Amino acid sequence: MLSKRLILLVSLFLLLTLTTSAAAQDATAEATAEVIQPCPAGGSPDAQPTEGAKKVLTTFTILADMARNVACGLLDVQSITKPGTEIHGYEPTPSDLVKTQNTNLVMFNGLGLERWFEKFMGSVKDVPTVDLSDGIDLIPIAEGEYQDRPNPHAWMSPKNALIYVENIRKALISLDPANEVAYTANAESYSQQIKQVDDFLKTNLDQVPAEQRFLVSCEGAFSYIIRDYEMQELYMWPINADQTGTPKQVAKVINGVRDNTVPVVFCESTVNQRPMEEVANQTGARYGGYLYVDSLTAADGEAPTYIKLLEYDATTLVNGLLGKGESS
Ligand SMILES: [Zn+2]
Repeated sequence: MLSKRLILLVSLFLLLTLTTSAAAQDATAEATAEVIQPCPAGGSPDAQPTEGAKKVLTTFTILADMARNVACGLLDVQSITKPGTEIHGYEPTPSDLVKTQNTNLVMFNGLGLERWFEKFMGSVKDVPTVDLSDGIDLIPIAEGEYQDRPNPHAWMSPKNALIYVENIRKALISLDPANEVAYTANAESYSQQIKQVDDFLKTNLDQVPAEQRFLVSCEGAFSYIIRDYEMQELYMWPINADQTGTPKQVAKVINGVRDNTVPVVFCESTVNQRPMEEVANQTGARYGGYLYVDSLTAADGEAPTYIKLLEYDATTLVNGLLGKGESS
């Protein structure tokens, strides 16, 4: 009788142990394959804004995408510049002015990125602005007319993007305090997605041997990615505000590519690619195509969101550097 009970107890214990450990294994498997849902507080980044929602404008498409991932349809978020536009020297239209006057908040990058912005806002009355790069550990521009001023392309680092998201969260809460809980939950989820992209970039770029990790671009827009992932930088011009694609700049990149036997060169989607194609012709390096920096694409393009933009650039870079890219 006693032994029967004992056997029963031992069996029960074993059964419990097995069930518990199986459950634990399942949880681990789930955690590694975790898909982070955007907008945990409801809505979606591209949801139609709710009736009577307050309006937020950003100076360019990347900031609008980030803000939509925090607002999740609770606010009407639009970008002043359209996908594919050159954003440094943009010339605002009269309709931009009307739209901005009728908005509740304008978010901009700052760091001298939008050279048109200060004058533009001078014509707009009583609309608050928020500088989203506040708190970034800056990298100065190394040369040219804008030497020692900050490189404005801080969003190209996922680590910096977390600071942008926090600045957006605070700005949206001060605009619309009633939805504080939602903005905080959405920002948390979006930050988790950005951390996954950071891992994606690191894993991909780690495949390239350190001495080959060269990023050759038209504009010197990649300084923050280069710092984060220990790459080497070679660009044609420091910033789009400078002269672009002069013979001297082309010669500098040709020499750099030859000296370091760099296999592949790139250019950004929003600028003239011809000078870099010339570098490829002269050196025998492959032209790896364009990278996205200053603008998203339309919804059916290759980089319709900030996260897709970073993934596209990482894949293009790694394929190019490892010789998997196509020449064109
Ligand atoms: Zn730029």
